[in-house]
Amino acid sequence: MSNKPANKIQDLQYFGEYGGVNPSISDSATFTFLHAKTMLDTFEGHAEGCYLYSRHTSPSNLYLSEALAAMEFTETANVAASGMGAITSVIMQVCGAGDHIVSSRTIYGGSYAFLKNFVPKFNISTSFIDITDLKAIEDAILPNTKMIYCEAISNPLLEVANIKELSKIAKAHNILLVVDNTFTPLIISPQKLGADITVHSLTKFINGTNDTVGGVVCGSQEFIDSLRSVNNGAAMLLGPVMDSLRSASVLKNLRTLHIRMKKHSENALYLAEHFENDGLKVVYPGLKSHKDYNLFKEIYNKEYGFGGILTIDVGNIEKANELMELMQNENLGYLAVSLGFYKTLFSAPGTSTSSEIPEEEQQKMGLSDGIVRFSIGLDNDIERTYRAMRMCMKKVGIL
Ligand SMILES: *Cc1c(COP(=O)(O)O)cnc(C)c1O
Repeated sequence: MSNKPANKIQDLQYFGEYGGVNPSISDSATFTFLHAKTMLDTFEGHAEGCYLYSRHTSPSNLYLSEALAAMEFTETANVAASGMGAITSVIMQVCGAGDHIVSSRTIYGGSYAFLKNFVPKFNISTSFIDITDLKAIEDAILPNTKMIYCEAISNPLLEVANIKELSKIAKAHNILLVVDNTFTPLIISPQKLGADITVHSLTKFINGTNDTVGGVVCGSQEFIDSLRSVNNGAAMLLGPVMDSLRSASVLKNLRTLHIRMKKHSENALYLAEHFENDGLKVVYPGLKSHKDYNLFKEIYNKEYGFGGILTIDVGNIEKANELMELMQNENLGYLAVSLGFYKTLFSAPGTSTSSEIPEEEQQKMGLSDGIVRFSIGLDNDIERTYRAMRMCMKKVGIL
């Protein structure tokens, strides 16, 4: 049997209680026990297979969690109400007062704001470092450092984290490597490259329908148990729990992820190559001009391609806005944050999803305000899309 990520989802066999081809949706906040003793054991974390209360876990959430764990090659997983719910639980579980984090400086705006502005309240400090500079990462590790935090492909600059090397550094210092794999589900398998914990915003590619937010933490049984501990688990006590109805719908969408990722990647590569040939400043990890192209090729699961996200620097924010409004009017996509939808989505990260990052920091990272981030959709005729986008670019004077 093939060990490829999508096939592992395919190979799961879940029945509903009446033999339905989809597992029944659990519709209960609390669960009965036949014996009082079992309730005590469950509280103490020893009663395998018993449900206690839906903030702890529910059958529907376990089905989705196990499918995501299969995809990410981890022992188990725990779904959350949002990507931020997953990420913040991990950070609060691993770090306490006086601890330190080494983070990539190019991460999702919400994660950046959490590390920069929120956790200092608990006396947790963070060094934001260029994730592609392995020496700088290692040099930033202090005796009180507890984790290296990064995104497999950074948002929005599309830098590639060398997870293998980062994992060696983390292991040498006995700290955890936590990787946000939201941009590259199936494409990159952080756990196989040495990551300790993989997190996702399910809101994006994995669910793919933009009808809910969701998140997941994939890791060892021991770590996930600790997150769910009734005594000191961040997921259990902070309570970012996903509703069962939602986890059932996300699970159904997850089953087509492999087909969608291939199409997102195929369409994005087509546009990236054509717009680069036209002379535009395109950043896409599948282009030979991308500085991490070779690294990406070394670590990716080839059949899923280079992903659905590309950026084009059109010079300044005025041009970016003009282009995005025109493309929306031409029905080429939506001017919206987020990614992984069937329609192309575009936004200017400098003024939206990365606006939490101070302007001077943005400049240091090379985040120009003329960058437009595209999450390329599932267009059936990408040549037609290319021609129509090209017309828009000509109209606003970029081509
Ligand atoms: C969207 C996103 C998040 C946050 O996820 P939510 O589901 O919106 O809470 C975290 N990381 C990355 C890379 C994202 O794109």
